[in-house]
Amino acid sequence: MAEMIVGHNALKGIREAVQADIDSGEPIYILDESESEFTAVDDTEGTDRTIRYISHDKITSAWLEGKIVITYSAGWYDQAVDPHSLAEYLFKTVDKHVLQTLEHIVIVSADTERDWDELFSILEDRHGNPILEVCDLPDECVGIQWTEYQTVVVNLGNIIELSKELCSDGFSDVATETNIGVITTVLHELFHMAQNDPYAPEELFLGLPADPEDQAEAWARKTFEENGGYVLAK
Ligand SMILES: [Zn+2]
Repeated sequence: MAEMIVGHNALKGIREAVQADIDSGEPIYILDESESEFTAVDDTEGTDRTIRYISHDKITSAWLEGKIVITYSAGWYDQAVDPHSLAEYLFKTVDKHVLQTLEHIVIVSADTERDWDELFSILEDRHGNPILEVCDLPDECVGIQWTEYQTVVVNLGNIIELSKELCSDGFSDVATETNIGVITTVLHELFHMAQNDPYAPEELFLGLPADPEDQAEAWARKTFEENGGYVLAK
């Protein structure tokens, strides 16, 4: 685990920690590197997992917005997500150590078969292989995190359905509940990504439950309670 440092220094610290592991004989190598990022291939779990680390000062709202993919179908809901607002929200509220390996935030609809066709050619690994050949879209749940690809996927259609059920007693409205559902689901899955980052600093997990599921949920709830926020288009 690396120490909690920011900006270029955070990237440098992680690069040094990776090098120390390489030097001690761990099955890890550096695929490519530049001033602002490097990609490690980690075979410690036997999966040749490719992880790209980006310098924290490159993690801007615009960079985050570029990571958000919304399918055509997911864009048509009355409660569609505004990628700009979501990116600004994550930029303001989330520790860069959580975001340092992010590749994509994907928002799909309840029509996952149609979304699959749209996303198949878009979601590729660093070797140009389609990720959807080996990963499933979340058709039964609200969100998922693809450990090998530093990608989180949110099923907006399912969140809206659950929100409608929650609102059937008339105490809330669908947009309010959907907004909370989207934010907490994105945060929950992003935290799973941090849990799966071998070089995430220990400080990220302090004061949180030990169980990974409880931990991700507690952090997501806490982040939303402290910051509020609205990320829907209308
Ligand atoms: Zn979870």
